[in-house]
Amino acid sequence: MIDIKSMTQEQLASFLREMGEPAFRGKQVFTWLHRGVTSFDEMSNLPKALRQKLAESCRITAPTVARKQISALDGTVKYLWRLWDGNCIETVLMRYHHGNTVCISSQVGCRMGCAFCASTIAGKVRDLAPSEMLDQVLFTQLDAGVEISNIVLMGIGEPLDNFDNVLAFLDLVNHPDGLNIGMRHISLSTCGIVPGIDALADLRLQLTLSVSLHAPDSETRSRIMPVNRAYDVEQLFAACHRYFQKTGRRISFEYAMIDGVNDHDWQADLIAQRIRGMPGHVNLIPLNDVVESPFKPSRRLAAFQKRLESHGVTATVRRSLGGDIDASCGQLRRKAMEEKEGAHEDLGNH
Ligand code: SAH
Repeated sequence: MIDIKSMTQEQLASFLREMGEPAFRGKQVFTWLHRGVTSFDEMSNLPKALRQKLAESCRITAPTVARKQISALDGTVKYLWRLWDGNCIETVLMRYHHGNTVCISSQVGCRMGCAFCASTIAGKVRDLAPSEMLDQVLFTQLDAGVEISNIVLMGIGEPLDNFDNVLAFLDLVNHPDGLNIGMRHISLSTCGIVPGIDALADLRLQLTLSVSLHAPDSETRSRIMPVNRAYDVEQLFAACHRYFQKTGRRISFEYAMIDGVNDHDWQADLIAQRIRGMPGHVNLIPLNDVVESPFKPSRRLAAFQKRLESHGVTATVRRSLGGDIDASCGQLRRKAMEEKEGAHEDLGNH
């Protein structure tokens, strides 16, 4: 079956033209799909014969809510979606004063192996299709009854390890006949895949690039992030500087503070030294306790922030949302997997 929602409007138009349909059908079908219809029968301005023909060859992806948690503290909503093949992924809806933001997943699982992260423990199962990334925005919007204005690709998975599908998704979500969410309202977070950062720079998109830094020295970074053994800190910062040169866009560096591992003053000094020459911004994140991880949250956030600022580096401490609902990524899927494993069933691998 063809995954019709992953097609661009141009691809749809030529697909329908080959079926003998007029050119305007592409826009019609695209508009319906991006409103979140789940069957061709709902496309009321299409001839019945065409609807039937499409239903025979195409699948309209539509995840179902496997679990949903709503934070009593701040209204953050966490969804565990079940996909067409039984795999599950997470999406988080966060309500900020500047608008509603969804944090979406880009893969089922992750193969990057960061030592502190719950999403990677069971490895990667598969990439998400463009439609499946779009669906997270679309169906969160429909389920929660709110308009979404911002997207962050910071859920489960490594977006630059699923480069083509992520770019196709950006194209879809950006389209004026679809959700029409501007690139300046989208952030993409990477653990530091250097060729991906360079490829992205060449496209000169207006999105915000976030780099999960977590350590400015290769010894520490290789210990907690295996990707550093392929692309070390020097190579990573060289790519970040190239990215800024090409796009003119400020990079945001994510930094989860781990007790006794990456929270020393000399590491703040080294971050400042490496960022010099571009307008970087460091986002200090209180480490989320992951049951399977040996790392503990640092108590030096304020001191570290001060140290960075003393070098003229902008540093903020991320406000934690949804603390009562396991809102950090990968944790809900993990929990569901464990419960299923306990019941000798198979979830996540079909
Ligand atoms: N693969 C991408 C995007 C997904 S992770 C990336 O690595 O950037 C989203 C962010 O959450 C990353 O910055 C990641 O390093 C961070 N993260 C993962 N586990 C965490 C934890 N236990 N506490 C705090 N941040 C965590």
